Order: sequence, then C-alpha cells, then structure tokens
Amino acid sequence: MNMKINLWGIRGSLPAPLAPAQIEERVFQILKLFLVYQSKGGISVEDFLNQLPTHQFGGFGGQTACVQVMTDKVSLIVDAGSGIRKLGEQLMLGPCGLGRGVVHILFSHFHWDHLIGLPFFLPMFVPGNEIHFYAVQEDLEKNVALLFQKPNFPVPFDQLGAKITFHKLEPRQEKIFTDIAVTPYLLDHPDPCWGFKFTHKNKVFSYCVDTECTRMSRKDMGLDLPLYQGVDLMLFDAQYSFLEVTERINWGHSTAPIGLDLAFRENIKKIYFVHHDPAASDSKIAKIEQQTQDYLTAMACAAQTKGESLPKIEWGFAREGMTLQI
Ligand SMILES: [Zn+2]
Ligand SMILES: [Zn+2]
Repeated sequence: MNMKINLWGIRGSLPAPLAPAQIEERVFQILKLFLVYQSKGGISVEDFLNQLPTHQFGGFGGQTACVQVMTDKVSLIVDAGSGIRKLGEQLMLGPCGLGRGVVHILFSHFHWDHLIGLPFFLPMFVPGNEIHFYAVQEDLEKNVALLFQKPNFPVPFDQLGAKITFHKLEPRQEKIFTDIAVTPYLLDHPDPCWGFKFTHKNKVFSYCVDTECTRMSRKDMGLDLPLYQGVDLMLFDAQYSFLEVTERINWGHSTAPIGLDLAFRENIKKIYFVHHDPAASDSKIAKIEQQTQDYLTAMACAAQTKGESLPKIEWGFAREGMTLQI
C-alpha cells in the first residue's frame, strides 16, 4: 500500500447532521422516484440507489475536521473535530482497546471545529495507551487541556487514563513518523493555521485546511510554496461558493475555483474540496460542485481558443467516510 487517506470529518465550523424532518423528506422523495422508475419497467432497489447522486441519497456528511493518513506501518490523525469520535470507536477494536495503542494526532490550529471531538475520543481514557499530540503552535498543551476543564467536561485532563505527550513541530521542518515525512507550512487564516505535507515513498499528500489562500502568487507564497508543489493529492478548503467568498473577505476560507487554479499552476494531480459550510445543504454543495464544473468547462474553452489544453486533473467535493489513495 502507498498512502491511504480516510476522511472522518469534512464539514467546516460546526457539525451539521441532517435533522429528522430532512431525513424523512429525503426518504419520501426517494420512494416517490423509485415508484416512477418501477412504473417504467422496473429496476432493482440496489441499482436504483446506486445511481442516485450523493446529495439525493447519503449526502456529504456533517462531522467536522478529522483525517487519518495511513501506510502499512503508521497511522497519523490530523485534527480532532467531531469526526474523531467514530475513528476512536474503530481504534478501540484494535490495540487501543487493550491499552496497547499508540496514537499520533497533529493539529493544524485550535478553532473549535478542529478540537471538539477530542473529549469523546475513547482511546484517551484507556490506561496503557500512548497519545502523542503535535503542533507548531507554542500553546498546544494549554489548548488541549482547556477542553477538559471544569465545568465544560467532567473528567479532568490529568485523570484521562492514557499517557499523554506533547510535541512541538518546527515550521517548514520535516518530522519523520516511521515511513511518512511530515512538514508544516503556514496557511492563510485569521489565527495561525498550519497545513501539512505528507511524503511517503514517492507520493505526496497536502492538507490545506483552513485557508483563504490570500497569498496566491508563487512570490507571495514564498517559503510556503512547497506545500503546493510536487503534490499527488491535495485536500483544499472550499467552504464557500465563488460568489460567497468575494463577500467574505478575511473569513479565512476559500472556494473551489481558487483550488483548481492552484492545482493547474502547480500540476497537482488530484484535488478534493472539504470544510463544507455547515449552513450549506447537500443540494447546495451539489450546486457549488456544478458551478465548479462550469468554471472548468469555461477554462477548457479558453485554453482551446489559444490552441492549448488543460492538464488532466481528478477533483471532487469530498464526502465523509471517503478513502482516497495515492
Ligand atoms: Zn475549520
Ligand atoms: Zn479555522
């Protein structure tokens, strides 16, 4: 195996689960559509469901930032948004459930949507487990301990069970985790936020969440340019539509066309968009995805008139539970 990236949380800012009424409405619409298909000659339930677009069936997901980067030898977690709760449950089925687990968690920054799942991460409560936290920011320990302070959480931080160790990462300096090299680079966000470049064998994954990408030229990116270069797969912040982002200057989030421009310029092979706005319904995310396709079509036409063609790129709006491989 090369690198496998599991997406446990792709929503931005706040968890956004579907409300019961929304689920009921979706089931109602699906059943109505199924009857129409049946009246036209029949289709199996499985085939019918498989051809439904994401926004009409399972949706994009509501848990906030949490990504797991894996090779055969090591597993790293990036950010501890609400998505980390389910990941913790899965880890409890292995060595973590026996008090023999070693877990590494890297933080990009300390906004709530990247932290709030941590008090519900079960491996932290099992004596014998080792939990290692990493960040560039000096105040890592203070910000993690803060989550467990009374009256916000019943179990004090020093009574969690697992052995906890904090590690400082150095800006733009590689740290080796068995067979993955991780290098932090600064993103463009209201509070300092560090993206991570993961290199394993000859494959590169870049985590670029949360960022407004206000420094767009190579010159402005300066020392942080390598985060976007030689990349096989990038996760990129596309919380807003292109129109919304123009109205939300300095909110710290970006949009898919900016990610695509960057991907074309730096020859990034795959780009998946994450940090979906909690206020965006699944249909709205699908609409933004369509607008992104329209943008690409317009770019392809413009390139054609100049006798050029766009490089091939794999892209999409990420869905919770997705696994990407490079
Ligand atoms: Zn965020
Ligand atoms: Zn943030």
